[in-house]
Amino acid sequence: MIYSNTAAGAFEADQQDPLHKYRAQFLFPQHNGKESLYFTGNSLGLQARKTKELILEELEDWHKYGVEGHLEARRPWLSYHENFSANLAKIVGAKSTEVVAMNGLTTNLHLLMVSFYRPQGKRTKILCEGKAFPSDQYALKSQLRFHGLSPDEHLIEIMPDPETELIDEERIIAAIDANKDELALIMIGGVNYYTGQWFDMQRITDAGKRAGAIVGWDLAHAAGNVPLHLHEWQVDFAAWCGYKYLNSGPGGVSGAFIHEKHHGQKDIPRFEGWWGHDKENRFAMPDEFIPIPTAEAWQLSNAPVLAMTPLLASLELFAEVGMDQLRQKALKLTAYLEQVVNDVRANTGVELKVITPTEPNRRGSQLSIILPNQGKEVFNKLTAHGVIADWREPDVIRLAPVPLYNSFSDVFEFGQLLEKFLKD
Ligand SMILES: *Cc1c(COP(=O)(O)O)cnc(C)c1O
Repeated sequence: MIYSNTAAGAFEADQQDPLHKYRAQFLFPQHNGKESLYFTGNSLGLQARKTKELILEELEDWHKYGVEGHLEARRPWLSYHENFSANLAKIVGAKSTEVVAMNGLTTNLHLLMVSFYRPQGKRTKILCEGKAFPSDQYALKSQLRFHGLSPDEHLIEIMPDPETELIDEERIIAAIDANKDELALIMIGGVNYYTGQWFDMQRITDAGKRAGAIVGWDLAHAAGNVPLHLHEWQVDFAAWCGYKYLNSGPGGVSGAFIHEKHHGQKDIPRFEGWWGHDKENRFAMPDEFIPIPTAEAWQLSNAPVLAMTPLLASLELFAEVGMDQLRQKALKLTAYLEQVVNDVRANTGVELKVITPTEPNRRGSQLSIILPNQGKEVFNKLTAHGVIADWREPDVIRLAPVPLYNSFSDVFEFGQLLEKFLKD
């Protein structure tokens, strides 16, 4: 164990943590005049302290300039989305021309599948993980039906092992190989929302490419959580949520990646809008669509500035810290939580089962734990005592100790409460 499961051990860990100071850059929901123990940054990330100031600046500029703010605002609205690309690119391991902040995740998945799910001849099938997040299932199935294909025949779902709830990559690779002449698209969640399993994305991408399929990733639970190298891995496309680990606020603006090998093509099917058109002559309002030779070609509308501002505040912090440092801390913090849970198990005799993989390179900052028997009751007591976590029926509690703002003391205090309520 890296740090002892005591108040002093957690305190010491926080003192030694180079990122501890970033906690003060975020606003925590309060509970009885104290910060809550917030472990749902994988669901809705916290508000960066600077968000309010940045939004007020936009409101001020709108007041001051009206429409002229498109050029005159301190961050001109015409190019507002460009403020995000460099920082997002570092987070997902891409060139800044390969990413764009826009829309919601499911919207982006659809827009990207219009371009990259192109069933032809025998190549019609989509492979995904079983028990995918419902929105992903709806998106995939409706894309199939849109092309006149039945999901029953054309969607290959690799189901989790009922014992462990995990999906062994070997089975994914075997399914890719077995269907290699019929696969049009592989689309999997990089980090599973339920178990927290982080797939070997590079290996699956390689296998998909060898099979001649397009490979896209849903990075809802991966972006800002685990290190990614989308460009280098030759991923074709990806999309993620802005409001989970990236703190863009409720329903906030999300992001997309399109590998540069797909840029600048006029004959790629794409749902087009004026914000994807060549910037040089956008306002000449030409009839013919000329795509911006970057991921921005997939934009439809001009940027929703006020909705994007929270992401700006958060990405500044990501840029300062960098994914390497974040990952270093995440490894320690998640290991600490795992140890605390192991101690609670030993001290109470309650069979707490962690379904998230134990290998650090197969998970990010999330542990999903089965609380048997009176689990929901214990969860409710935790909630009443200021723990904000996520409950999935029938018996799973999901906890995300987020390295940008959670502390080792948060984890320690959670363990104390869990032990107490399991003993009650
Ligand atoms: C959170 C999440 C979504 C949510 O989609 P929105 O379009 O942002 O509402 C979709 N897919 C996965 C895998 C998620 O984790």
